[in-house]
Order: sequence, then C-alpha cells, then structure tokens
Amino acid sequence: MGKRIILKVNKNICKGCGLCVEVCPQKTLRISKMFNRFGYHFVETSENDCKGCKRCTIICPDAAIEIFLEED
Ligand code: SF4
Ligand code: SF4
Repeated sequence: MGKRIILKVNKNICKGCGLCVEVCPQKTLRISKMFNRFGYHFVETSENDCKGCKRCTIICPDAAIEIFLEED
C-alpha cells in the first residue's frame, strides 16, 4: 500500500502572491488566469508531481495550502 499526496489550495484565501510557485522544486503550482471572489488570481496545481516537501505550505503567508497523505 502506498500513500498519495493530496494538495488542497483554498482559492478564496489565496492572494496570488506567487511565493509558493517560486519555492516549489517540482513546478507543481501556477497562478490561475481566473479570479477568486476577492479579485485575486489564485494558485492552482498543474500536472507536475508534488513530492510533499511542504515548502509551499510553510511559505504561504495566508495558510491557503494544505497537504494530506491518503492511503491508496
Ligand atoms: S509540497 Fe513541495 S513539491 Fe508539493 S507543491 Fe508544495 S512545494 Fe511543491
Ligand atoms: S503563497 Fe499562498 S497566498 Fe501566495 S500565491 Fe501561494 S497559496 Fe496564494
């Protein structure tokens, strides 16, 4: 049994500062073209693999990213 990494971005908390995008070694995160309800471009996950290093969750000033481990 393996573990799957689930990355959750709360798009309405994200202010689109881009810090998490810069810090991710996997290039998993990107700024969306869409706006959240407060008018910010929020972060979304791309097709690249998240390795669960948590750099994005630690650097986010608004705690908009959560990481869970799920059993397969
Ligand atoms: S946990 Fe690490 S690899 Fe995954 S999205 Fe965040 S910074 Fe990137
Ligand atoms: S660091 Fe946080 S607020 Fe900034 S773009 Fe990433 S998720 Fe959004």
